[in-house]
Amino acid sequence: MKILFLDQSGKPGGAELCLIDIAKPYQDSCLVGLFADGPFKDLLEQQYIPVQVLAAQPIQVRKESSLVQGLSSLGQIGPLIARVVQIAREYDLIYANTQKALVVGALASFFTRRPLVYHLHDILCDQHFSGTNRRLAVTLANRASLVIANSKASQAAFLEAGGRSDIVDVVYNGFEPAVYQHQFDPIKIKQQLGLDGQFLVGHFSRLSPWKGQHILLEALAHCPKDVTAILVGDALFGEQDYVQQLHEQVALLGLEEQVQFLGFRSDVVSLMAACDLVAHTSTAAEPFGRVIVEAMLCGRPVVAAQAGGAVELVETGKTGWLVPPGDALQLAAAIANCRQQPELTKSIAHQAQIEASQRFHLSTINQQIAQLLSRVRLQHQS
Ligand code: UDP
Repeated sequence: MKILFLDQSGKPGGAELCLIDIAKPYQDSCLVGLFADGPFKDLLEQQYIPVQVLAAQPIQVRKESSLVQGLSSLGQIGPLIARVVQIAREYDLIYANTQKALVVGALASFFTRRPLVYHLHDILCDQHFSGTNRRLAVTLANRASLVIANSKASQAAFLEAGGRSDIVDVVYNGFEPAVYQHQFDPIKIKQQLGLDGQFLVGHFSRLSPWKGQHILLEALAHCPKDVTAILVGDALFGEQDYVQQLHEQVALLGLEEQVQFLGFRSDVVSLMAACDLVAHTSTAAEPFGRVIVEAMLCGRPVVAAQAGGAVELVETGKTGWLVPPGDALQLAAAIANCRQQPELTKSIAHQAQIEASQRFHLSTINQQIAQLLSRVRLQHQS
């Protein structure tokens, strides 16, 4: 099957990393069309997945934009739409991986009569999107032949926002367990970080207010001095003010010796291997939470914020711990708990690793996607 994948981002967020795994089986007959240049394109090329940057300049549709702004930005993207329509004629199916890709993909689907699939990586609620963008997303998604929601939480929000129940299916992100079965020496990596002998909490996420790095810093202020944290990730979508705030918070709380900002890293697995605990601290509902599964696959204990998709991934006391979003004191208590009960923590991490390797195995997930796409194609042909 010839698939035209569309994604608005030049940077590798979770949706983009997921797309690499989805596009890989179709690498001989697909094209990934991006609306911006950047390191995501390099990652696709490294995997030998055909990729082209289709927009002359990145298009602007901000989450808080009004309908008028939304429509005027549609005006700006005319040449992009024309290009996508022209390319789509060579493909059997259009697969939109992000919201702006949905806008362009829906129009291209209309003009070319190619079926549209939308992979929903977002929770369409007011914490994440303006009413205008939610309505636009749902209206366009309802014209798709299939919506793949990345969790039950994303599916529920889609339905709540007026999405059609007959076209939506839940498919979790897939992971190749072997990639995470590391042989790294945690002690050595801690030494390299200058954190030898410390209890290390890892946070792996782009720096963004709703990802809640500030909650981890606040929790750290309630922990003993030998509890340290690495913040792995960068401000991918222009949240420089938040980065500044985090540095100020570190200074204010006197955490300079306990916190390291490592920026965006492509060696997440080895860094996870060095962690005694991985913390997920999103203050708004997380659509899926790749980092949670990755930590589990690395055999590392996880504490996650109890909302959205995270609730589907972690069962407290069995495969990790859930704490209320935004509650730094409970997070500090969970960190202390893990530290005081190393044997229990180890067995929970082990259980989570086994469960995650089965539930999120890439081959199973890719099979689910392949079946859904075949169904779309058959429906379209009949
Ligand atoms: N990630 C990475 N390097 C970093 C920080 C994060 O490769 O420095 C990866 C992380 O391993 C995960 C993805 O970025 O695979 C983030 O996905 P998640 O679903 O957790 O959050 P999203 O970015 O989709 O909101």
